[in-house]
Amino acid sequence: MKIFCVGRNYADHAKELGNAVPEDPVIFMKPKSALHLANAPFYYPEFTNELHYEAELVLRIAKNGKYLPEHHAGKYYDAVTVGIDFTARDIQSELKKKGLPWEKAKAWDQSAILGKWVPFTTEMRRTPLMFSLKKNGETVQNGDSSDMIFPFDTIVSHISQYFSLNIGDLIYTGTPAGVGEAVVGDVLEGFLGTDKMFELEVK
Ligand code: MG
Repeated sequence: MKIFCVGRNYADHAKELGNAVPEDPVIFMKPKSALHLANAPFYYPEFTNELHYEAELVLRIAKNGKYLPEHHAGKYYDAVTVGIDFTARDIQSELKKKGLPWEKAKAWDQSAILGKWVPFTTEMRRTPLMFSLKKNGETVQNGDSSDMIFPFDTIVSHISQYFSLNIGDLIYTGTPAGVGEAVVGDVLEGFLGTDKMFELEVK
């Protein structure tokens, strides 16, 4: 199983971190060991002093494929949820400055939070998906899939030009503005529309 992530897929988030809006999707990966198992405790990693949440819509790949044209890409994912692409922002800032890869900031154990799966319906293909993240009961991020620079089918098609997609692979599709710090004791809740997808306490 592979975990793909899209960076800078919302113009307002690219702006808040001082990044240019990309011409092509920015893709990076997390290993399988990055997946946080539901109901397992989530511990603040000891190597960072600036843990950031990034709430994102996550797609689940349902068919094996490669070199998918955009107009076929929609058949290759069947479920969606909200997750968090946890980021050690202090480490990422250092790595970015030096032009080094991001894995130490992004791909560590348990850095990929996943909510419960919701079937991706025909209705969802026609209407934008709204999602949000609450921290300690207050909304800190609001997302709307129609604000994505690269929509789902473009992302799936693009990734498949470089990597084969396999059943069960995940795609974190980027975060909207409002990323920020989580500290020990914070409770994070992810919502798709008004439905709660996960609740996570930082221990
Ligand atoms: Mg992200």
